[in-house]
Amino acid sequence: MNAKSAVHAPWVDKGKHASPIDKDQLLASISIAAVLADILPAGQVKKHEYHHLCPFHDDQRLGNASTNIDTGFGKCLSCGKGWDLFSLTQQVVNSVSSFDEALTYLNTRYGSGTTLDHRRTEQRSSAKEDGLVPVLPIPDDAPTPPLAQYHLGRPTRQWIYRDLDGRHLGYVCRFDRPRKRKEFMPLTLWRDQHGTMAWHWKHWPEPRPLYGLERLAQTDQQGVEPQTVVIVEGEKTADAVRDLLDDQAYCVMTWPGGSNAVSKADFRPLANRHCCIIPDNDAAGFKAALTVVKTLAGMAASLHTIPPPVDKASGWDLADAKAEGWTGEQALAYLNGPRLTAEEFARWLQGATTNSDPSPDQTANHDQPSPSDSGDGEEPISQDAPTIPADSERPIVSPDNC
Ligand SMILES: [Zn+2]
Repeated sequence: MNAKSAVHAPWVDKGKHASPIDKDQLLASISIAAVLADILPAGQVKKHEYHHLCPFHDDQRLGNASTNIDTGFGKCLSCGKGWDLFSLTQQVVNSVSSFDEALTYLNTRYGSGTTLDHRRTEQRSSAKEDGLVPVLPIPDDAPTPPLAQYHLGRPTRQWIYRDLDGRHLGYVCRFDRPRKRKEFMPLTLWRDQHGTMAWHWKHWPEPRPLYGLERLAQTDQQGVEPQTVVIVEGEKTADAVRDLLDDQAYCVMTWPGGSNAVSKADFRPLANRHCCIIPDNDAAGFKAALTVVKTLAGMAASLHTIPPPVDKASGWDLADAKAEGWTGEQALAYLNGPRLTAEEFARWLQGATTNSDPSPDQTANHDQPSPSDSGDGEEPISQDAPTIPADSERPIVSPDNC
């Protein structure tokens, strides 16, 4: 749905009171909770109130503003502003600037053709728990994805995930805030029980897609044989290796969610492929690589790991190599250098953890995250950070919690 098309619907321009849409009928026909979850994502339903950041002032945390999911009336305890669903829509949706446009927007997007009284539906839990199903791939009539996440602001980078046919599956977004650790969140499309599609800051259902699937298929079609799949940690590193190599004999891929989320990804498209894993140069990276190795063992046509160069800092990866000025020739030489089989990598790993960190399971040193330093398994990704900040700086929002 293109929001701008609603603005140009013929009845909008006929005058102030020309809208044929009855406001009360519309409110009775739509799920106000679903509308709120869509236009103000990352809120929470508590009883009959949807708690969200106030769009009328620079609100930084939940707790000030809420909107009733039965009536659409809301208020902000901080700035004192009050609203109904229509004035709220005018404030939040860029293309809507009048009451009639809000009516048209809401009717076209959430209300047209429906005769169900969604308003009477029980909405005790948040929308995300009410039978959301993923919409994959993203259809042409999907709503426009939000430009910002309510806690984290606008992403500084985003990566598009696609399936083998190149169809859009969703995004992973990166957020960099002043004096805060960088954070990553997936943005995916879901349909609720009323058929309404909305973007949510949550992961794909497991098993999750790999990043770079479309390139796997593209190079197949071009008949480049045999193709080696290079698996790195993180989308930024994958992009950096693609830039460095510019070589169709390699297909560079990663999995979503960072070092602790390997087991949640779907590696089956790599069956019968020649696979080469390049870990980040730290314990978390090695552990992730080992999990990839175990996942692909017996499935890949061949399976190797390339350890980081010995002189590199903790956390080093090929994005750092690119930043250091590596040329494509250097990257190719590194890729064609010593490779470890699964058994050799397991032995090398024992030596690496013994040498760099004598007690990896007991360490409290966050500069050298140990394999056991896995948090809740959904890591705040750190693929280009040489150090890991203290637990107090861990993100307030993790992808699976929003
Ligand atoms: Zn306010």
